Amino acid sequence: MTEVSQVKNQLSTNLFANLTEHDHEQILVCNDNHTGLKAIIAIHNTVLGPGLGGTRMWNYNNESEAMKDVLRLSRGMTYKASISGLNLGGAKAVIIGDAKTQKSEALMRKFGRFVNNLAGKYITAEDVGTTTQDMEYVNMETDNVVGLPESRGGGGDPSPVTAYGVYVGMKAAAKKRWGTDSLSGKKVAVMGIGKVGIHLLEYMHKEGAQFYVSDMNDAALKDAANRFGATVVANDAIYDTDADIFAPCALGGIINTETIERLKCQVIAGAANNQLDDEDIHGDMLVKKDIIYAPDFLINAGGLINVYSEWTGYNRENALRDTERIYETLESIFKVSDETGLHMQAAATHLAEKRVNDIMRVQSKI
Ligand code: NAD
Repeated sequence: MTEVSQVKNQLSTNLFANLTEHDHEQILVCNDNHTGLKAIIAIHNTVLGPGLGGTRMWNYNNESEAMKDVLRLSRGMTYKASISGLNLGGAKAVIIGDAKTQKSEALMRKFGRFVNNLAGKYITAEDVGTTTQDMEYVNMETDNVVGLPESRGGGGDPSPVTAYGVYVGMKAAAKKRWGTDSLSGKKVAVMGIGKVGIHLLEYMHKEGAQFYVSDMNDAALKDAANRFGATVVANDAIYDTDADIFAPCALGGIINTETIERLKCQVIAGAANNQLDDEDIHGDMLVKKDIIYAPDFLINAGGLINVYSEWTGYNRENALRDTERIYETLESIFKVSDETGLHMQAAATHLAEKRVNDIMRVQSKI
């Protein structure tokens, strides 16, 4: 075997090993020399419906990093849609490149052609590195896109709906902890006062909660202090406050062995994706410390519910009403966790997988 064929052989072996590891259905590798488009669309599971997931444009260091990311993110979308009770599957796309310098109308439209070739099996949306304007370009080549601006019949910025979902999830977690879902007088530490964080503060403020906030954006902190009387703390000090509730709304991976030891809160409920650095280790550590954890992929699903509503005929009130179901879903997760001893993230994953498997059986009979 020549060196080249050995390398090729290894690549194809890894490719299928990657797909089989988490049972992905399909990937589409998209290349266009003219526009410089290099994209990967990963469809994880379409049992519940077409795979919906945003398109991320990122300057990955290499192809395998991009592949790893798209496979991980698409699988996460299957769980998010399933636990949220949506008739959607999980998929995601990544475009390899610098979103600031390499994006163009032609590139996005070419990407739209590839999405269209999947004939509705994949529905795209904006994500890190792409915008609603980009989705308008995609929409010139395919109908299989959501996250369009309100002026084009879309749902606009999903962040207020995401914040609403985090808020109702936080209330369900509060009820589990304190027997009442009122946030009145509760001290909440919010890490990250961005698009979601600011709306979350608004909801909680109406109920009489008090806040510690951290961010590196001084204008956002000032806004939170002026409008909601929030106490500003240094970025790293957010873990050491005497807050009752911690709401991570900035980055993933921040709940880890070091920060769990520092936290004094009794509830964690926030918008950030992948908050637990290691799901099993840190999920269990939180249980041992008697901290109620509201699984991130459920309570931040308001954004997905919002774009799903766009797919079925957009109406913000319907999107908010559907998002309210997060409260009851969280109660069932707590129940499963209590009955099985699974930590809360694992209980949520179990319920998400169960729904996919149950519906797969429904489809296989008759
Ligand atoms: P955003 O970029 O508008 O806000 C994030 C904020 O966090 C920014 O103000 C940033 O300065 C701040 N930040 C970054 N690093 C920080 C740190 N170390 N300490 C404190 N603050 C820090 O993002 P967003 O849309 O508000 O989303 C917040 C989180 O929720 C992200 O993790 C995002 O992936 C997740 N999420 C958002 C949505 C949505 O609808 N926007 C949906 C699902 C999940």
